[in-house]
Amino acid sequence: MPGTAGEATYAALLAEGRARLAALGEGARLEAELLLAHALERPRSHLLAWPQRIPKHAVVAHYRALLGARADGTPLAYLTGRREFWSLELEVTPHTLIPRPETERLVELALERLAPGARGAVADLGTGSGAIALALASERPGLILLATDRDPGTLRVARANAMRHNLANVTFAVADWCAPLASGQFTALVSNPPYVAPSDPHLEQGDLRFEPHAALVASDAGLADLRTIATGARRCLAPGGHLLLEHGYDQSGAVVELLVEAGYLDVADHRDHAGMPRVATARAP
Ligand code: GLN
Repeated sequence: MPGTAGEATYAALLAEGRARLAALGEGARLEAELLLAHALERPRSHLLAWPQRIPKHAVVAHYRALLGARADGTPLAYLTGRREFWSLELEVTPHTLIPRPETERLVELALERLAPGARGAVADLGTGSGAIALALASERPGLILLATDRDPGTLRVARANAMRHNLANVTFAVADWCAPLASGQFTALVSNPPYVAPSDPHLEQGDLRFEPHAALVASDAGLADLRTIATGARRCLAPGGHLLLEHGYDQSGAVVELLVEAGYLDVADHRDHAGMPRVATARAP
């Protein structure tokens, strides 16, 4: 280890971090920089501009604790408390799923269906950090977003994110999927519900080990919540209203089938940017 705590330069600490995080491969350099920047409470550009600076002892201790936690698998987003989604920097906590790029595909598909200047109410069911609701609220200021979650603690994170980005067109409600929603009122319902099967081995790998089980896992091979939402949303959507559901890469056939069975029109399935089937769309009759 170069130097003793309190004497190592930024450059030496970054080299130490790259070595500690070597198992991350190409990501090691960036993650070491992000963790040192976080411990310093400075932007990454600061440490790249001043490689010979020596930070305070407490900063070095904090940085090394972060490296240790990251090396043990704690997701980067939970260590920094931040994740970028749709150009919004969001607070994330271990109560929330970490927003993923796949979910930006759902936002794109929703925006294609909600014209600029669109008015009306759109609900994001199981909002977590608020990612989908806040992205839509920022792009379509004429819409009123209702962001729901079953967990009041999670909803506090979403609310803080709305305030951080000055998004006044978002309201929040503790809710179990569609149950408390008004009938026939919604222009669109969107959701990234839990859809991982309880037996999926991915739950023992990577970030998923640290994310809230309730936000990831659904019974019935991951389809239980997708089914509940598809069925319940029919009542809440206005005639012609849009339903958009994120799902697992291998659930496209099952989700399309349950949307058709539930009586939706224009049922279609869309791939994400990695080429995997990911978002089902449909309209209420
Ligand atoms: N896309 C996540 C994953 O498999 C799962 C998110 C979810 O269940 N909604 O990593």
